Parts: sequence; C-alpha cells; structure tokens
Amino acid sequence: MRMSRYFMPTLKENPSEAQIVSHRLMLRAGMIRQSSAGIYSWLPLGLRVLRNIERIVREEQDRAGCQELLMPTIQPADLWRESGRYDAYGPEMLRIGDRHDREMLYGPTNEELITDIFRNTARSYKDLPKILYHIQWKFRDEVRPRFGVMRGREFLMKDSYSFDLDYEGSKRSYNKMFVAYLKTFARMGLKAIPMRADTGPIGGDLSHEFLILAETGESQVFCHRDFLEMDVLAEDIDYHSDEQVQSIVEKFTSQYAATDEKHDAAKEQELGVDLISARGIEVGHIFHFGTKYSKPLNAVVAGPNGEEITVEMGSYGIGVSRLVGAIIEASHDDNGIVWPESVAPFKVGIVNLKASDEACAKACDDIYAKLAASGVEALYDDRDERAGVKFADMDLVGLPWQLVVGPRGLQNGIVEFKSRVSGEREELSIESALSRLCA
Ligand code: ATP
Ligand code: MG
Repeated sequence: MRMSRYFMPTLKENPSEAQIVSHRLMLRAGMIRQSSAGIYSWLPLGLRVLRNIERIVREEQDRAGCQELLMPTIQPADLWRESGRYDAYGPEMLRIGDRHDREMLYGPTNEELITDIFRNTARSYKDLPKILYHIQWKFRDEVRPRFGVMRGREFLMKDSYSFDLDYEGSKRSYNKMFVAYLKTFARMGLKAIPMRADTGPIGGDLSHEFLILAETGESQVFCHRDFLEMDVLAEDIDYHSDEQVQSIVEKFTSQYAATDEKHDAAKEQELGVDLISARGIEVGHIFHFGTKYSKPLNAVVAGPNGEEITVEMGSYGIGVSRLVGAIIEASHDDNGIVWPESVAPFKVGIVNLKASDEACAKACDDIYAKLAASGVEALYDDRDERAGVKFADMDLVGLPWQLVVGPRGLQNGIVEFKSRVSGEREELSIESALSRLCA
C-alpha cells in the first residue's frame, strides 16, 4: 500500500480522551475512530489487524475440530424468555422493538440462539459431539465503556458452543478448547494464563479465564512464576488424542493461578511459593454449564436405546476486538506499537527518504513490486515528507521491519534494514534485504 494514497489518519499529539497506551496508540496510528461511547469504526489499518487476529482464532478453532457458522446479531426476545435470561440480563442488554412491536434484542451472547438451532436439527446421539462457533459483533450496554476497544459496548467476539451426551464428553470438549486457546494466544505473541474462574450459581470446576499480564488490566490476578516459562507453540497437537490434550490441560492447571475473586491467600501460604501478583486483561473465557440452557429449551437427542438425553453444553469466548488493544498493551515502546509478525497489518514498511529523487523513487517502486510479487505485504511511504516525519510514523504503526532507502546508500546499492523489536539496523544490498523478507 502506498501511503500517499492510504487512508491512515495518524495523529502527532496524544488524544486527551485516551487513558491507556493501547487506546492512545490506536487513535494515533489511525486504526479506529469513536462513533459514540464504546462504539468504534475500524479504519483500514485497524481492520487489517482485526482480520489477522480473526484468522488465527479461526484456524485454531478449525484445527480443534470446531465448525464455523454465522448467527445474526438481532435475536427474538421470546427465546430469552425461555431460558429466563430476558429479565435476568438487566440494563446491559440492548432491547429493540420492530415495526410490529415485536420485542427483539442485540445479542450480548448466543447460548439461546445456538441451543435453538441445535434442538431444531439434532435428533440422535449420533449427531454428537459437536462444537459450533461464530465470530460476530456483540452489544453490551456496559456501565463504564472505557479503554477504547478493550471495554467497548459493541465488540467482536468469537463464541463457540459444545454439545455432548454426558459430562465426560463435555469435559473432552472443554479440554480441546482449553488447549486451542493456549495455542491461539501464543500465536499472537501473548502469554495468556488460564485462571480458575467463578462458575456462578451452577457450580463445578470447569471454568477458566485466560488473562494476559499488563499494568492496565482491570483484574487483580495471582499466579505461579512458572507460567511465564510455559509454552505450547512447539507442541504438535493432535486433537483426536484425548490423552495428549488432557496432559496439556493438566500441566497448565497444576500450577496456581487465580483472579481476585477466586484467590485463596491461605492456599498461597500452604504452597510456600511467591506468587506473582499483577494486573491482568481477560482475553478469553471458557465455561462448562451442563444443561443450564438445554433443559429449559428442551434440547434433547435420542440415545442408543431410544431414551431421551438432554445435551451437556459449554461455551467458549474470545474477545477478538479486545485482543487488538491487549496485544498493544503487551507490546509497545515509547515510539509506538511493536506488532508481533503474526498480526501485523503489514510485514514491512518501505521508507523512501527522498521522494523527489528519481533514482530513489525508482528503486523503492521496484522493491515494492518485487515484495508484492512474492506475496509480502508492504506499507510504502512514498510521500513527499521530511525523513523525521516518516520515521516517526513508521515507528508509530509498528511494522516488524523497515526498509530505509536513501540516495546516498543507493549509490552503493545499499539499503538500511531495521528491526522494530530490537531497533537493530543493518546495511544490506537490496537483494539480500529482499531475500530476508521473502524467506
Ligand atoms: P468482563 O469480565 O471483561 O466484563 P465477561 O466475563 O463479561 O468480560 P464473557 O462473557 O466471558 O465476558 O465474554 C468473552 C470474552 O469477550 C471476554 O473474555 C472478553 O475478552 C470479551 N469481552 C467481554 N466484554 C467485552 C467488552 N465490553 N468489550 C470488549 N471485549 C469484551
Ligand atoms: Mg468472562
């Protein structure tokens, strides 16, 4: 993308309405603009990151055997009356009337809708197990929308729902999601720590929140230091192997980790270790709830002997749009964002130091074309601007690599290759810079 044509309204000054760094940087880099409290438009640069995150989430869900569908944002109130949640949900739910005075709502989540789909289609135990998911906008009329996309009112969520015949089956689904979540967040360069979470009135021990540690997190958390060393990226996971999946879950649940609400100070004493006490951002939440929805909505299948089985369910959420902010909270410096390569809006930025110099422009155009031909996405700063402005903007938007092309270096066929993470600069021939990027 040529920056001279790109719609990327960057800001030099820090916007006064933003309290935390990710919100500031997202506004400054021209990724989002607020439409009303907690509701944002995604500008081209921001949307590219959102899509990259979505892609990783989708790939890992599919790998774990889940199937994608797409449910609507607007739901009928009557379905929520069946589960009893229409009244219970309170003012967080946006309630809407259509022209026929039928009561509708903008979905804050989809348990009722997916259960309705399931009960109308599944007949036999042979239809199970299933995990279905979608990536769809949600609306929750939060009391205090803040921190940009981190606590919005309209936000993008991936939510999956599992259907099983019994508790054991349900636990297998839960474990698959647990592992898929570890993998998903790790691919985004995040250390997301699974923490025991409240299961609310239903009880049971099958609920975990995945949190990343960050100063600006809204939750107080406590966890064992070992979590910082644990990694799943190298592991080749076979989701058909219940044993492998379970052993990973056990490894990650054997260490202490809890949010404030679940923290047990006596237990900490007993363990005799110094836990990390930190702030955390919730990026995902998995939850087994048994027959909480399948019972009132009568989601049943026929068992092998014709008996009626009420299905066991779980739900599994990832805050896709919150992740854009969370990743920035975890990865930035004084100059701007530092994107992990997996979610970066472009892999490399080409900085033409002198756009008015014909040879320089020609070399940059050529590099840009060669990268495009190799499928490498580049943001090409071809603007007629001072070098300082270009460097500042390029650091702000945080692409993993920068290729700086100036008239002097070019005379010797040399460009500067800079890593955004380390700040390290190397002088390379155009060819070797290209081969690094295309490798
Ligand atoms: P929180 O405790 O942060 O309010 P929650 O527990 O109500 O979240 P869930 O129902 O578990 O949220 O939703 C699944 C995921 O969706 C959360 O883990 C979070 O990442 C994301 N999420 C929830 N609420 C918001 C919001 N207002 N803005 C952005 N993302 C959100
Ligand atoms: Mg939650």
